[in-house]
Amino acid sequence: MVDTAADRSPGREPILVSACLLGLPTRYDGASKRSQTVLDWLAHEGLTPVPVCPEQLAGLPTPREQTRFASGDGHTVIAGSGEVRTISGRIMNDPFLHGARATLQIARLTGCRRALLKERSPSCGVHRIHRENAIVDGSGVTAALLIAAGLAVLSEADLPAPD
Ligand code: SF4
Repeated sequence: MVDTAADRSPGREPILVSACLLGLPTRYDGASKRSQTVLDWLAHEGLTPVPVCPEQLAGLPTPREQTRFASGDGHTVIAGSGEVRTISGRIMNDPFLHGARATLQIARLTGCRRALLKERSPSCGVHRIHRENAIVDGSGVTAALLIAAGLAVLSEADLPAPD
């Protein structure tokens, strides 16, 4: 039988966190977006971060070409419309959906019921995304799939400002 998170003794609550927010150099440009606010909040709340980068889980290289929505957002991509494209025009819906499903699988394996994701990313954006050359309301593909699966999904923009 497979040992799942639910079978193990209780510990600190695990939470999925965008790897780049934790300081891992997973972004398309090979950089990180380490956030002290995020690290402080996780420590304050007593949470155990489970780092995930949906685009790396999709098998994409780092660095990689920048990607943004050409139309729609993560919710519409999951529904079968909407389009994620690289700057040079390559359609990326399939790898982004693959990365989103892999991230959801990790959430289930680790017992995560919450996620803290990087705002404005085409995978991780929770409230805002890049569409063409604008920043608009919408969710990334992974955020949308986690929301649809019933996880509580926050971005770093939802955290209280540091004292
Ligand atoms: S896909 Fe998410 S975790 Fe990966 S670099 Fe982009 S924002 Fe960070």
